[in-house]
Amino acid sequence: MNGKHPTPPDAGFTPDQWLARTHEVTNQPPALENYNLFRQDRALQEAVDREGANWARSELDTYGELVGRSDIIELGFQANDNKPSFHTHDRFGHRIDEVRFHPAYHELMAMAMEHGLHSSPWQKPGPGAHVARAARYYLHTQVEASHGCPITMTFAAMPSIMKQPDLAETWAPKILDCSYDSRNLPDSEKQSVTIGMAMTEKQGGSDVRANSTRAIPTGREGPGQAYELVGHKWFVSAPMCDAFLVLAQAPGGLSCFLMPRWCPDGSKNPWQIQRLKNKMGNVANASSEAELRGALGWMVGEEGRGVPTIIEMVAMTRFDCMIGSSSGMRQAAAQALHHCHHRSAFGARLSEQPLMQNVLADLALENEAAMTYSLRVARALDAGNDEQEKLFLRLATPVGKYWICKRTPNHAYEAMECIGGSGVMEDCIMPRLFRESPVNAIWEGSGNVQCLDTLRALQKSPESLDAFLGEVNLARGSDRRLDGFVDRLTTDFGAAISNPDRIAFQARDLVDRLAVSLQASLLIRHAPAAVADAFCASRIDSQGIHNIGALPVGVDAKTIIQRATPHV
Ligand SMILES: Cc1cc2nc3c(=O)[nH]c(=O)nc-3n(C[C@H](O)[C@H](O)[C@H](O)COP(=O)(O)OP(=O)(O)OC[C@H]3O[C@@H](n4cnc5c(N)ncnc54)[C@H](O)[C@@H]3O)c2cc1C
Repeated sequence: MNGKHPTPPDAGFTPDQWLARTHEVTNQPPALENYNLFRQDRALQEAVDREGANWARSELDTYGELVGRSDIIELGFQANDNKPSFHTHDRFGHRIDEVRFHPAYHELMAMAMEHGLHSSPWQKPGPGAHVARAARYYLHTQVEASHGCPITMTFAAMPSIMKQPDLAETWAPKILDCSYDSRNLPDSEKQSVTIGMAMTEKQGGSDVRANSTRAIPTGREGPGQAYELVGHKWFVSAPMCDAFLVLAQAPGGLSCFLMPRWCPDGSKNPWQIQRLKNKMGNVANASSEAELRGALGWMVGEEGRGVPTIIEMVAMTRFDCMIGSSSGMRQAAAQALHHCHHRSAFGARLSEQPLMQNVLADLALENEAAMTYSLRVARALDAGNDEQEKLFLRLATPVGKYWICKRTPNHAYEAMECIGGSGVMEDCIMPRLFRESPVNAIWEGSGNVQCLDTLRALQKSPESLDAFLGEVNLARGSDRRLDGFVDRLTTDFGAAISNPDRIAFQARDLVDRLAVSLQASLLIRHAPAAVADAFCASRIDSQGIHNIGALPVGVDAKTIIQRATPHV
C-alpha cells in the first residue's frame, strides 16, 4: 500500500477504524463455564435423592459449582495439552523411572483426593455412600477424565487389599488418606498413597491365565509373604502410583501380589518402566510397559487364587467405567445442548428446529439412561450384604460396563457434530471427549469379555438373572412395550441357555437387551413421562435399530431438551 491507506468507503470511519473492522463476532455461544454442574443437572439431582444420597445434596451442590469454574475447566485442557514425560535416570545415572506430569494434572489429582473420590464409601460406608461418591465422580470427570484412572484404581484396590489384613493394616490408612503426595519417595515417608494395577501381559491380554510373570518366594510362602517377581507387564497405567496389584504365577498357581514402588529398606524396587504408551485418548494420564526384574511383591489373598482376589478390584473399576462414560456423555450432551441453544442457522435457533431437536433429545436420553443405570448400581453397592442386591450387582456390573461404555463413542461423535466445525477443534472439549470415549469400553475387560462374564454369572448363579429381571419387572404393567420386550428376552434366554454354543454367539444381543430393559424400567418408574416414553419408543419399539436422531414422531423432544439444557 506504499504506506498509504486506501480511501474508506464510509466517510464516518477513520482509516484505522475501517481497517480493523473486518467483521463482528455474532451468533457464537458463550463458553459453557462458571455454572453449577450439579444444579444444572435435574436428572442427576433426582437420581441422588432416589438412590439414597439425599443427605449429600448440599455438598454435591458445592462441588458442582467448583467443577464448573472456568479455572478448573482450564486445568483439564492444560493437563491434556502437556502430556506426561518419562525419565529413566537422574543426571548422575541412577535409575529413577520417573514420569513427570503437568502441574494441572497434579492439581486435579489433589482435588479428587481431597474430596474423597478415591475413598469416601470405605471411610464412611452406609446408605448413599457409593451413590454420593459416584455423583461426585460423575461431576468431577466432566472436567477431565484421564486422571480418573489412578483415582479409580486407588479406590478399587481397597476390597482386594482388605483380603490380606496384615498388609491392609499398613496400606489401608494411607490409601484412605485424603491428601495427595506426588513425590517419588518410599511409601514409608508418605501419609497418602495411590495404587495401580498390573495384570495385562503381551501374550495373554484378557486371558490372564496365560500370564508368564513368575513369583519366587524369598523365604516363607503364602499369603502376606514376600516374593520376587520376574517378568513383564504390557500395560501399567499411572506408573507413578506407590504400589500395584500384580498377577504372577506362584508355585501354587496364578496369585495376586502387592508390589511397592520402593522397597522397605528405601531402595528402588527393581521393576522398570520400558516406555510410555503413545495413546490416542486418556493422554493426561501415563500408561506404560514395564519389566519386573526380581521386584518385591507381597502375596495378597490365597496362593493360586489371584483372579478371585483381584476381581474385587476389577469389579469396582468396571463400575467406575460406567460412571465415567455416563459422565462423558453428560458433558458431551451439555456442550451440544448449550451450543444449539445459542446458535442460529437458516433463521432460527438450532435447538428449536425439529431435526436438531430430535438429535439433542436423543443425546439427552442416552445420557440420562446411562446415569440412571449407574446410580442404581451404586445403590446396590451400598446395600452391603443384601443377597438380592449382590445377585443384581453380579449381572448389572458387566451388563452396564459393556452397554454404557459401548454407547459412548457414537454419542460423543454425534454431540461433536451438533457443534459443527468448531466441535472438531482442540480448543473445544469435544475432541478430548471423543478420543476418551472408546477407552472405557476396551480396558478393564473389553466388550466381548463383559458379555462372556455375564454368561459366566448366569451359569454360576442363575439366580442373578432372576434378581436382574426382578428389578426390571418392578415396572411391569406400566408400559406394554417393555412388558413385551422382557417377555421375548426371557423366552430367548430360555432357548439360548440350553445351548452353550448358541448363547455365546448371541451374547451381545442378549446383553444389549438386558441393559436396555433395565434402563427402560428405571426411566418408566422414575423419569418424567416424556423421557420414559421417548426411550421406549426409540430403544424398544424400534427392535434394536436405532441411530441417534431417529426418535419417532410423537415423542416430546422439547421437554427432554428443556430438562437437560444447562444454563450459564
Ligand atoms: C489406555 C489403556 C490403559 C491400560 N491400563 C492397564 C493397566 O493399568 N493395567 C492392566 O493390567 N491393563 C491395562 N490395560 C490393558 C487392558 O485391560 C487390555 O487391553 C484389555 O483387557 C484387553 O486385553 P488385550 O489388549 O490383550 O486384548 P485381547 O485380550 O487380545 O482381546 C482382543 C479382543 O478380543 C476380544 N476377546 C477376548 N477373548 C475373547 C473371547 N473368548 N471371545 C470373544 N472375544 C474375545 C476382546 O474383547 C477384545 O475385543 C490398559 C489398556 C488401555 C487401552
